[in-house]
Amino acid sequence: MSNPEKTPHVSGEPSSDRDLQNVESAKTKVGSLKELIDVVTGRLPPENQIEEEYGSAEFLPFPFLGLVGQTEMKLALLLALVNPAIGGVLLIGPRGTGKTTAIRSLLDLLPQIERSNCFYGCMPEDIEIGGIDAVCPDCARKYAEGEPLTHTEKAHLVELPLNSRLEDVIGGLDERAALNNQIRIKRGLLAQANQNILYIDEVNLLSGEVIDAILDASAMGYYSVRRGPVSATYQARFTLIGSMNPEEGNLRPQIMDRFGLRVLVQGLVNPEERIAAYQAAQAYTSNPRKFVQQYADETQRMCTEIQEVRKQIWNIQLSDDVLRAGIRLIQHLKIESLRAEITLFEAARAYAAIDGRMAVKLADLRIVAPLALRLRRSEFMEKYEADQAQKEETLNKALDEIIPNEFPGGSPG
Ligand SMILES: [Zn+2]
Repeated sequence: MSNPEKTPHVSGEPSSDRDLQNVESAKTKVGSLKELIDVVTGRLPPENQIEEEYGSAEFLPFPFLGLVGQTEMKLALLLALVNPAIGGVLLIGPRGTGKTTAIRSLLDLLPQIERSNCFYGCMPEDIEIGGIDAVCPDCARKYAEGEPLTHTEKAHLVELPLNSRLEDVIGGLDERAALNNQIRIKRGLLAQANQNILYIDEVNLLSGEVIDAILDASAMGYYSVRRGPVSATYQARFTLIGSMNPEEGNLRPQIMDRFGLRVLVQGLVNPEERIAAYQAAQAYTSNPRKFVQQYADETQRMCTEIQEVRKQIWNIQLSDDVLRAGIRLIQHLKIESLRAEITLFEAARAYAAIDGRMAVKLADLRIVAPLALRLRRSEFMEKYEADQAQKEETLNKALDEIIPNEFPGGSPG
């Protein structure tokens, strides 16, 4: 077989038994989420690993547990899945390093969430917080009659297509309704992303107005669309995952700041890993169903664990020592954005929760700090502040010469 077929398919026989044996022997044996974290962070050496460059058969996503190497990327994605307060992930790296495959592999790990049965997205907690008027009349009636307002379903991975227009993202006038002389607003991608994961590939190539709309909605948890006489407000709480190839252009610093964790993704260096990755890719491409099946039990276990860990997140304690050390680190690095500490501490809580603890340790900060703090210090601000400090000094010197301080011991007043 010279050229393996590239079209997506979900069944068929493996190209050879040998391929599958290789994969079997190279497969990572991971029994729990904690074990996975240990492997991912290097605390436990994996028995063997695989991953990467899987071709185009994405019908059945490549299993997360089958990804070779790329431990930092896997850790960041898991943390973001466990704790949405982290503020998402940005994967930065050249083409062909498995960013998209890794993100799509999350599909099988996505947790069950409570979703509203109502078009307006009414939730029981809206009533708990804002009273019965906080939901639509229909939901108010259901609530009074003890009918459920929500159902449970698996979260989705919503991918923003390249070249998305503002109208696709936030929604616009419903053209079909307009044909019947009705004015209605059609939901955009952001409304579909509510409570889901929103994946933006090539985030650096998105138009300014689209990325601004997404980031504003993500920061506020909702957004409004106004078209002529009609307007609508949608909930938009989602975990944002972006990827970009730095060769194709930079991301504005203020956009970069909005992503919680940042991973610099590189190609696999270890030749053994590259071989394992190639073999896994080949086995997956030749028979996705069989390949995915090998990981099915472990994937299911992990998915259940993620669900459990998510419930614990808000109970994980941050001691005074940990808080102070985190802030000291951030100030030492001269990072100004408050998002730095939010991401740092929320990532540490997620890590502790996965590790089965109810309190964050200093060691957790050490593990998650590179993810949370890298690329936070802008060169522009650094230069700007140095310039300003110099000007300030010149000003003070001039003042001292021309209008000497009457109170040399300190400032007057
Ligand atoms: Zn409702």
